[in-house]
Amino acid sequence: MSEKRVYLFGNGKAEGRADMRNLLGGKGANLAEMNLIGVPVPPGFTITTDTCNEYYKVGQAKIVELLSDEVTKAVAHTEELMNCKFGDPKNPLLVSVRSGARASMPGMMDTILNLGLNDEVAEGMVAKTGNPHFVYDSYRRFVQMYGDVVLGMKPENKEDIDPFEAIIEEVKEEQGVVLDKDLSVESLKKLVERFKKAIKEQTGSDFPTDPKEQLWGAICAVFRSWMNERAILYRKMEGIPDEWGTAVSVMAMVFGNMGDTSATGVCFSRDAGNGENLFNGEYLVNAQGEDVVAGIRTPQQITKIGSQRWAERAGIDEAERVAKYPSMEEAMPEIYKQLNELQDKLEHHYHDMQDMEFTVQEGKLWFLQTRNGKRTGTAMVKIAMDLLHEGMIDEKTAVLRCEPQKLDELLHPVFDKKALLQAKVITQGLPASPGAACGQIVFHADDAQEWHADGHKVIMVRIETSPEDLAGMASAEGILTARGGMTSHAAVVARGMGKCCVSGAGSINVDYKTKTVEIDGTVYKEGDYISLNGTTGQVYAGQVPTKAAELSGDFKELMDLCDKYTKLQVRTNADTPHDAQVARAFGAKGIGLTRTEHMFFEDKKIIAMREMILADTVEGREKALAKLLPYQKADFKGILEAMDGCPVNIRLLDPPLHEFVPHDQAGQEVMAKQMGVDVATIKRRVASLAENNPMLGHRGCRLGITFPEITAMQTRAILSAACELKKEGKNPMPEIMVPLIGILYEFKQQKEVIQKTAKEVFAEYGTEIKFEIGTMIEIPRAALTADKIATEAEYFSFGTNDLTQMTFGYSRDDIASFLPVYLENKILKVDPFQVLDQNGVGQLIEMAVEKGRSVRPGLRCGICGEHGGEPSSVKFCAKIGMNYASCSPFRVPIARLAAAQAAIED
Ligand code: PEP
Ligand code: MG
Repeated sequence: MSEKRVYLFGNGKAEGRADMRNLLGGKGANLAEMNLIGVPVPPGFTITTDTCNEYYKVGQAKIVELLSDEVTKAVAHTEELMNCKFGDPKNPLLVSVRSGARASMPGMMDTILNLGLNDEVAEGMVAKTGNPHFVYDSYRRFVQMYGDVVLGMKPENKEDIDPFEAIIEEVKEEQGVVLDKDLSVESLKKLVERFKKAIKEQTGSDFPTDPKEQLWGAICAVFRSWMNERAILYRKMEGIPDEWGTAVSVMAMVFGNMGDTSATGVCFSRDAGNGENLFNGEYLVNAQGEDVVAGIRTPQQITKIGSQRWAERAGIDEAERVAKYPSMEEAMPEIYKQLNELQDKLEHHYHDMQDMEFTVQEGKLWFLQTRNGKRTGTAMVKIAMDLLHEGMIDEKTAVLRCEPQKLDELLHPVFDKKALLQAKVITQGLPASPGAACGQIVFHADDAQEWHADGHKVIMVRIETSPEDLAGMASAEGILTARGGMTSHAAVVARGMGKCCVSGAGSINVDYKTKTVEIDGTVYKEGDYISLNGTTGQVYAGQVPTKAAELSGDFKELMDLCDKYTKLQVRTNADTPHDAQVARAFGAKGIGLTRTEHMFFEDKKIIAMREMILADTVEGREKALAKLLPYQKADFKGILEAMDGCPVNIRLLDPPLHEFVPHDQAGQEVMAKQMGVDVATIKRRVASLAENNPMLGHRGCRLGITFPEITAMQTRAILSAACELKKEGKNPMPEIMVPLIGILYEFKQQKEVIQKTAKEVFAEYGTEIKFEIGTMIEIPRAALTADKIATEAEYFSFGTNDLTQMTFGYSRDDIASFLPVYLENKILKVDPFQVLDQNGVGQLIEMAVEKGRSVRPGLRCGICGEHGGEPSSVKFCAKIGMNYASCSPFRVPIARLAAAQAAIED
């Protein structure tokens, strides 16, 4: 039995459906669905994503053979519905060939329009339409796109413009016109010839004239584009598996460039930048789709209100706007009415914001695509809450609609309003993707990557961006372009990435050769600072200060909703009162880890710490520790106070002591002076602290066991801080945690020290504090013997940084030397220090939770490694019944959302 590889659609019927996106790609599935719900779509067919995978197994010749029958039938079906014939000069069918993966990857893969044209067909179309300008404009576009996508025509150097654009410039100059649209029929014909000649010169091949050969070339090029650099990178960033493959949709062409009753555009059912419930978009009269998205002509707005806002920003008065840049609502009211009704229908059908492409051919409206629109983090939250309030989705769906990682954008700093008043606006573009960005100017994507790797913050400045610039965009703080509207690829991709972007700043003059940009009469060089406000489209000279974001409005409402459904609580990792406060404002329900060692580095504290390290008797160490005690107590008091009424889990000293001593000559000299000993003594002590594997050496509870006086001092500091707070009427809730336990008796010994010290402190203060003593589970042996350890430990906190290190046997400090190779060769899919390895490390955790609770029912379990703020890891923790996840303050909302989603998905 042969497998079905091709699915037909057209005339209100379709073999596919919206829920077949895995097989037909998002575009193919939605084209089918639009047919089924009565949205006008040109007929055509979709080749499955599985066929793309097959292509990579069997190669081009074999795939053509496998597809041949089905594609021939599908073309005939399209011909029948369109009442014309592929390759027939008298009555030709032209098609578009489009990519479409399961997840939307805007602009990352290739599309070819006007396929089926050759010299004879072009002449035939002229005879049929009486519109030679339209025909030759379509023809030259086809040769250009086909040359680029299928035949691989590229500029020779990165500074050069596209070879076809260079020819267009040449011909425009010869004819003495400025705009593409003013090219005469003769000039367009010249373009076709010169393009073909350039193709022959660069590639050695003739441009194919047989439409069938063109079609196979295009189908296979779309398959190939799945593996182009930018698509691979995009998938990496978005976590899309390579195995998904792209579908190919072949559709009858409809033309937006057939004169003034034709148009093409892109529209969104809501604002993708800020989430406002306002239909919006852009269109161009007498143009083809790529003119709108590529940013070559600055498009007009679809709605009147959008147009008025645009004009206001651009400083254009109402009379000029109406005369020169009317909205579609004003210029084509009938079509606008249909478009508006259909966008509303689609949003109600999909229950989500839609991103749609359409074409008007001589007064008839066609939809070419709809998909759930990419949006910024801000828009994501607003749209989810608005759809909830409008009754279109329920609470659980609203929570599931938001991507945890994208909340990160809402936590980014914004420009300080006061500072903005002082800042100098040097130009204004379109607010393509919101946020504040400040950095040094670079002009090329690879420079952006290099500068970023060297630790610079950069703003990438381009005439227009193309999807090839993706890697540069990812490295930049923000993007500024001279051309391109709100729906240009730059804008769409930047919004998807949550990158600040100002596009279409028409008054800037970019020169790639000299690496300069002239803005408002001033020339800025590579390396100069500028600041962008992606929310208003304003560009500022120099560096404008920013301030922290806060949790309010829709964002707060979403977080409250998360609390309603979540089972897993979220705490924070915080070492200072400030961090504790920030985390609390973001909804942390306590502290899951305070790393006490971070408190030792300030000036006086480090001196006392070093005295302790240098001492070679118990008395000497106790003397030094007595100096440290008041500092520690003050630090703990601050944190307990900031988290008053919430649990604060404080870990005893963990890192190896060599981290606290200087390793350079100058530092050792200073230390010798401070300690009143000679440098040789310092050198000897530093040398004696050196270890071959410090991560597996004298650290964690091993310090407390060899130097119990450290444990005693820290316990005293924690509990006396708590006693003092209690006397001041506060409600401190400390927990004391022993790190790096592998053996029950390690824990027991430390617990005794803690309990003995607690008794003394409580007697001194004449009061008692309820507190718990728990342990970290970060050594595989601790996980394996968790039922023993839980007989003494009152809670577990999984230190997944060390647990990952010791389960994989990868040094957490040295992984950078081989991780890239592992990722490249797919030995590892992700960095296990960022994303919890559920299969391996996860098994140990699950087992330890179970074993621990078998002897201590209800044992509180949490995670405090870096994974505690990573959504998939948080979901795992929720699934296995942990009580809380703890993460850095700025990841608290992300973890809260992931935790709520886990509960809802369960
Ligand atoms: C851990 O190991 O996961 C942990 C939280 O401790 P640290 O990172 O301080 O070793
Ligand atoms: Mg650890």
